[in-house]
Amino acid sequence: MKESMSVSNRVYNCPICYNILRYECYSRVDGKVAEETKSCPEGHFDYRYYYGYIEYYIGDKRFHWKYDDDELLKRKRNILAWEEVRRLREQSGGG
Ligand SMILES: [Zn+2]
Repeated sequence: MKESMSVSNRVYNCPICYNILRYECYSRVDGKVAEETKSCPEGHFDYRYYYGYIEYYIGDKRFHWKYDDDELLKRKRNILAWEEVRRLREQSGGG
């Protein structure tokens, strides 16, 4: 349930093109984050957290895991996601 909705004044940049990400955060009544999204206006990068589920869309790839997944699995997925970020950043750097 979305108890309240706030758009934070926190600023995040796209790790690929450095544009400012659109940031939205939905908090529960107890103040804990229930849903959080960060997305690049150019569509390189999309992060979603919702109810213990983490999802990244990086370029055309999707990475996802659950908050209570095995630590090693989470770390592996996270590494893969950020390798993809690095790959796209190098690509867009015109190298
Ligand atoms: Zn971007």
